[in-house]
Amino acid sequence: MKSARIPGPNEPLTISESENPKPSGTQALLKVKSEGVCHSDLHLWEGGYDLGDGEFLKVTDRGVKYPVTPGHEIVGTIKAIGENVSNVSVGDDVLVFPWMGCGECPACKVGNENLCDAPKSMGLFQDGGYADYTLIPNSKYLAKLDGVDPDAATSLACSGLTAYTAVKKANQNSPEFIVIVGAGGLGLMGVQIASAITDAKIICVDLDDKKLETAKEMGAHFTVNSKDSDAVKKILSICNDKGADSVIDFVNAPPTVKTGLAVLRKRGNLVLVGLFGGSLELSLVTIPLKSITIQGAYTGNYTDMVELLSLARKGVINPVISKRYSLEDANTALEDLKARKILGRAVINP
Ligand code: NAD
Ligand code: ZN
Repeated sequence: MKSARIPGPNEPLTISESENPKPSGTQALLKVKSEGVCHSDLHLWEGGYDLGDGEFLKVTDRGVKYPVTPGHEIVGTIKAIGENVSNVSVGDDVLVFPWMGCGECPACKVGNENLCDAPKSMGLFQDGGYADYTLIPNSKYLAKLDGVDPDAATSLACSGLTAYTAVKKANQNSPEFIVIVGAGGLGLMGVQIASAITDAKIICVDLDDKKLETAKEMGAHFTVNSKDSDAVKKILSICNDKGADSVIDFVNAPPTVKTGLAVLRKRGNLVLVGLFGGSLELSLVTIPLKSITIQGAYTGNYTDMVELLSLARKGVINPVISKRYSLEDANTALEDLKARKILGRAVINP
């Protein structure tokens, strides 16, 4: 098998060749058809996350070991299965649930392996899908595509799933207005999902007019360019000067969170998703006085991924796939994402 691996932080990915693994027990071997290129792969490539004030959270301090094969949005065809696999068969096209957990902590016990205390996520803590073949440790993490387009399905494992979790959290206060910040891979899925499962008017914010146009096509009722010095005023006036009930921030950097807090109404709900990072000083009294909720959202669970696949099968959501790369071009794919050249999602077709 061929894998595009990150040798170490900020080093170009190199193609390495190895024997195809032979699945045993509950394992399954997939021939990768399509692999989504996520901004989180960029954070892994850069070696970690910006904590603000010059501080950096290294992924190696979270348990990542280089060299590592990135890729957590994996769709493939089953080529071989271990003797204990019965839920899928050779030849099935499947989507992988990559947020694997230990199976024993309180989160795993209630089915939220994505929030595990000792995560084993693919493409992070174990090798992922930037490869032509990949070994899945347990077939319980697979879901059959049953007709969903393989390229479109990749994003349901991460960008779609994370957006789904975030929109569900944003919908808890019966919002009249939801602000979605960032119209990238995650944000555009957020717009589609919010228009499918909530009754809210959706206001999408980005600094790129082209991405905002796409957001409108996906169901955003209003768009605001955050480069506009009047952005906060514009958002407030759309929300009848009361403010937005919920803000989902798919960027989560100091300027976007400042905007989010400034447009949030009383009883509002701020859902932080992006990992762009940084730090911010908060005026504490406004939190109780406005009784706002600030919460994080991290990926989603297997059940939500299966629900999303069914929404995609019905055509309720249609992930935007705008570019396709070969495995050999993995470096270019990541460079293009970093340079903000990708609309929606790019995929690698090994
Ligand atoms: P992307 O690069 O596809 O999109 C980012 C978007 O944000 C772009 O449209 C860009 O124009 C916009 N943007 C950047 N700075 C902005 C600003 N200051 N104001 C307004 N818009 C701005 O990235 P993506 O794949 O959608 O991922 C977004 C973030 O979410 C990344 O940090 C990624 O690592 C993170 N992520 C989090 C989770 C989670 O579970 N919490 C899961 C996957 C990805
Ligand atoms: Zn991702």
